[in-house]
Amino acid sequence: MTARLLSFIIPSFNEASNIEHIYKALDKEFEDLTYDYEILFINDGSTDDTLARIKKLVLTNNKVKYISFTRNFGKEVALLAGFQHVKGEAVIVMDADLQHPCSLIKPFIEGYEEGYHQVVGRRNRKGDGWVRSCLSSFYYCLINKFVDVELRDGVGDFRLLSRKAVDGLLKLNEGSRFSKGLFSWIGLSQKIIDYDNVERKNGSSKWKFSKLLNYGIDGAISFNNRPLRICFYTGSFILLLSLVYIIVHLLMIMNYGIVEHGYFTTISAILLLGGIQLLSLGVIGEYIGRIYYETKKRPHYLIQETNINSGENDEENESGIHKVYRSGGD
Ligand code: UDP
Ligand code: MG
Repeated sequence: MTARLLSFIIPSFNEASNIEHIYKALDKEFEDLTYDYEILFINDGSTDDTLARIKKLVLTNNKVKYISFTRNFGKEVALLAGFQHVKGEAVIVMDADLQHPCSLIKPFIEGYEEGYHQVVGRRNRKGDGWVRSCLSSFYYCLINKFVDVELRDGVGDFRLLSRKAVDGLLKLNEGSRFSKGLFSWIGLSQKIIDYDNVERKNGSSKWKFSKLLNYGIDGAISFNNRPLRICFYTGSFILLLSLVYIIVHLLMIMNYGIVEHGYFTTISAILLLGGIQLLSLGVIGEYIGRIYYETKKRPHYLIQETNINSGENDEENESGIHKVYRSGGD
């Protein structure tokens, strides 16, 4: 009987200093694992030695697989590529930077064997700056009022997914992917396991403030049209106020004649309405932008090379590495 297969997906962008460490940490966990395993690194257009380090591992262990993108497509897309290519009956997603403790792999598997389809790591905010912690708490408080799916603070991509969950995710083919929401959207039974936040030791985080802000907006926009609704309601409310204002003033003019005051009210109305209009246009623009990208139906990513043999046109070189130029995500 063949052993049950567990797959690991590790998106890696400029993680040369971490590849060997994460592999060693995983390798330690495999010693007393009853599952067979495969580790799939997604090299997301790294400009450092990441790919070379991964290839070094491939030579020592044929359970290490990799997909190397033609450029940086982002972590969300790297995860999609991973889900499309792994074969395990359960899949664990983790970062390359050792911030996701390998000691959780066993509890994850236990959860899976108990019958859960998603076993999710939830970190606390130990070591995070207080500004970031406060902003995050505020964001999650706000966002959960906006979106239909439930998003939890501290819950990210670090999780085990059953084959059923992975197949569910693969049915969601949108271009702008907000994984946290997608994981929540597919539903299925979930077990949460808490762990202490681990700080990054090598390399640097790819999440600068502007990227985090964009990610936050993605979260609000990706899951429903509620922001458009809010624009509609705000617009209606202001229209109503303006009508009342106009009627009251008209009545006053009819009774007392025209008095040349009103500079303050005019400016306030222009600024307020202008602001609300621009904001609403921005929200609408966000949605139109998304429609624009979705209608292009571009592949989510392009593969420069991989050692996964699945295309008919792949040509194999002497080291067993399949050089391909393949697109994916459709
Ligand atoms: N990552 C990626 N593509 C990107 C950005 C990040 O594959 O464009 C990977 C990165 O190599 C790491 C994981 O996603 O394995 C999480 O990134 P990071 O540590 O920068 O995020 P943070 O932990 O700070 O949220
Ligand atoms: Mg990290």
